[in-house]
Amino acid sequence: MRRRLVIVGACLAGLRAAEAARRTGFAGEITLVGAEPHLPYDRPPLSKAYLDEPEAPALPAYRDESVLRQELDLDLRLGVAATALDLEQRVVGLDDGEVSYTELVLATGARARTLPGMPAIAGVHTLRTVDDAAAVRAALDGGARTVVVGAGFIGSEVASGARKRGLPVTVVELAHTPLTRSVGLEVGAVFADLHRQNGTDLRLGVGVESVLGDDKASGVRLSDGTELAADLVVVGAGAAPATDWLRDSGLQLDERDGGLVCDETLNAGYPGVYGAGDVAHWHNPLFDRRMRLEHWTSAAEQGAAAARNALDPAAAKPYGTVPYFWSDWYGHRIQFVGVPGADEARVLPGEKFLALYREGDRLAGALTVDQPTLIMKFRRLVARRATWREALEFAGAKTASA
Ligand SMILES: Cc1cc2nc3c(=O)[nH]c(=O)nc-3n(C[C@H](O)[C@H](O)[C@H](O)COP(=O)(O)OP(=O)(O)OC[C@H]3O[C@@H](n4cnc5c(N)ncnc54)[C@H](O)[C@@H]3O)c2cc1C
Repeated sequence: MRRRLVIVGACLAGLRAAEAARRTGFAGEITLVGAEPHLPYDRPPLSKAYLDEPEAPALPAYRDESVLRQELDLDLRLGVAATALDLEQRVVGLDDGEVSYTELVLATGARARTLPGMPAIAGVHTLRTVDDAAAVRAALDGGARTVVVGAGFIGSEVASGARKRGLPVTVVELAHTPLTRSVGLEVGAVFADLHRQNGTDLRLGVGVESVLGDDKASGVRLSDGTELAADLVVVGAGAAPATDWLRDSGLQLDERDGGLVCDETLNAGYPGVYGAGDVAHWHNPLFDRRMRLEHWTSAAEQGAAAARNALDPAAAKPYGTVPYFWSDWYGHRIQFVGVPGADEARVLPGEKFLALYREGDRLAGALTVDQPTLIMKFRRLVARRATWREALEFAGAKTASA
């Protein structure tokens, strides 16, 4: 029987899985199934350049269709959702039929969370897909007064894009300091100031009770009774792994967020079945703990690793990484490596912003603003398990010579 690798999820991790499979010399069939009608495309620009560049940008597609169909020889099924998985028969149910597999990579990513009771009316959006971004961009083109619900990274980038256009924007955040779970309290406070310095009205410690307007948003009512006028409400409430269709499959899903549980080789507990990208929890051997990341770099790497391991399980290699993400606000590039660290976050003195994170006596992570070379040096230090003292000495030398 001819082998068939089926990849569910036709975006970053899915595409990288297909490319890696061909690079290993795999000559069997590859079916790439994607619920969105678009070619695989890059999401990070959607909350950045896509929103604030003067000309409406094209779809940030990774590859032309001809590359996918001819060079990679993919059986490309776009606009088709997987609806069921039969692990015994090795069949994926699709909304237009079914496809059998010998190896399977699950790369369905995550869906934007909405707010309970959020009305489906014009002017209220999440930001996950290129269609979401087009709607948000169109509202900004029309000069929208914007309320962003949630001061996470994507919401903050939307605020930054609106301010770049000179538009009024309010960010409403339930926590008293933004981003504490991602970057810690001290650094979160610095980012709150960055919003304020750039003219964003930041409301902390308050929630959105309801969206006002009948068929179109006209504002929001906050939990303290304040009403804010708005033509555009962007909900940045995080994302949830897209695993609804796997609920009855027998695969293990995380009890808290429903993500697909994988081992350190990204195997999902059944022969030939692997997970990759935003959807996957996996055991990261570098930190000896289970994690699920929503970061571009790990999604790309995991896609490739999952395909390689699926096609040659006898030689499967663990996937370990120092998590890395970036975010662009108000003309600044924020970069983070590692994990935020349970024990301490220390902001180092210096002209440019640097914070280090400690776990026990070990360097757990680092965050920089506008220092792309330095952050990669810290990534290497985290990877080789540098001690806290070593990291402080390195930082001291760097900041002293800056
Ligand atoms: C607006 C935005 C900005 C971002 N900015 C940054 C950044 O600056 N830096 C950074 O490190 N990361 C950033 N990220 C995160 C990064 O883009 C993601 O980590 C990455 O896209 C994950 O890739 P993925 O392939 O795992 O999942 P996705 O990109 O979510 O792709 C999964 C695909 O699977 C499809 N799918 C879902 N269910 C099914 C189904 N049942 N059947 C078929 N197909 C299905 C989905 O429609 C989707 O197309 C950003 C994300 C967003 C949304």
